[in-house]
Amino acid sequence: MNIGVVGGGIFGVASAIELRLRGHGVSLFEQGTIPAQNATSNDVSKAIRRTWYGDDDTYVELVERAAAQWREWDRGFDSPVYHQSGTYLVLNSLEAGSPMYESIKVLTGRGAQIEVMSPSEGRARFPQIVVGADETCVYDGWGGYIESGRAVANLGAKAQVLGVEVRENTPVSEVEDLGASVRLSVEGQSREFDRLVVAAGAWTSRLLSQMSDGLHITQQEMLLIEVDDKDLFSPGTMPVWSFEPDTDGWYGFPLLREGYTKISKEPLGEAVDPDIDRSGTESFKNQAMAFLGERIPGMASGKIVGGRKCLYTNTTDDHFVIDWAPGSETVLVAGGGSGHGFKFGGSIGEVVADTLEEKEHPQARLFKTGSRFDGNVRRHEQGTRGFAASRNGV
Ligand SMILES: Cc1cc2nc3c(=O)[nH]c(=O)nc-3n(C[C@H](O)[C@H](O)[C@H](O)COP(=O)(O)OP(=O)(O)OC[C@H]3O[C@@H](n4cnc5c(N)ncnc54)[C@H](O)[C@@H]3O)c2cc1C
Repeated sequence: MNIGVVGGGIFGVASAIELRLRGHGVSLFEQGTIPAQNATSNDVSKAIRRTWYGDDDTYVELVERAAAQWREWDRGFDSPVYHQSGTYLVLNSLEAGSPMYESIKVLTGRGAQIEVMSPSEGRARFPQIVVGADETCVYDGWGGYIESGRAVANLGAKAQVLGVEVRENTPVSEVEDLGASVRLSVEGQSREFDRLVVAAGAWTSRLLSQMSDGLHITQQEMLLIEVDDKDLFSPGTMPVWSFEPDTDGWYGFPLLREGYTKISKEPLGEAVDPDIDRSGTESFKNQAMAFLGERIPGMASGKIVGGRKCLYTNTTDDHFVIDWAPGSETVLVAGGGSGHGFKFGGSIGEVVADTLEEKEHPQARLFKTGSRFDGNVRRHEQGTRGFAASRNGV
């Protein structure tokens, strides 16, 4: 088939590569460069972890497959983008039946080595991080991070080598579903395709208005900090860390290639338009530094070297959407990353390609549109994210 892809973030490039590998003719349109300045995928780092997904192993299966693919892709890149620094969680509690408890049960049942530590064991292992007497620590040496902006740039280049027509700085202004095919308006010209994948991230509803009730864009802020003691924060000594993902949800990274560490916060921020100013705010800076002062003092004493806002594209239930747009049999939506999508770049292309080719994919179930976009309105409250909720309870 002749397939168009709109968007050169992780969902778009991963889809384009897989579709091309299956022999389709593929054209990828990106309004900016790959990565685009304001793309959600354009960031220094994204965590890859598997201790987050409650008692449904769909995401675990997908992320483990993705990790293998990231490794494989790394072999062809100038330097690796995937770093297995380990992931470390500090939890208020680990009660039986809680999403994290269920998640650990699923993982250990699959043979994963997950270490549950007391506060003193946690402190001995990672002295950089302050742990309270009533808290529980969970370490997964399998986890780590991906240098996301570099990864997407490399994959965009790879797509081109494979024969994808990669058109950067080429916004698609309109999508017209013709029933048996799709017409795009691209810089005043029209291009027709058998099928279209819209992977336009936070801008998806601009092209597909039927998605607007179901995709909610929130701003999430991050701060970049140069630390004094580089050895103490280097990957291998410092893991990707996070605190109680379902409440305060502060998380961050070891020292990155760029010479700084990064901190951000998980709970959903304010709902915004995708084209907001991305500058960081004083209030976030103060909150983050106050948190670090209590929990990671060696980072709090560092120098702030940057900060900005990034956007989550949230679905009503936090699961991705990889399915035909409501009312269409030719336009497929791939996105709704809901703050956790990047890591799946290594396996999500197969889900997109199978769905587009009308094949069953064993992990595609959660991503179907079904009735998820029938006028639902997202609860913007904070709390357990849909993908992390245990189906046994919470
Ligand atoms: C602060 C923050 C932290 C995160 N942390 C993690 C993490 O630790 N781990 C993890 O796995 N995930 C994380 N995520 C989520 C992850 O980054 C996203 O799920 C993922 O990057 C979304 O990719 P995407 O391809 O859907 O969107 P994007 O990367 O935004 O790509 C969409 C692309 O479409 C282009 N586009 C839009 N409209 C048009 C048009 N009309 N024509 C042409 N091009 C167009 C845009 O320019 C953009 O490049 C985080 C997100 C944020 C904001």
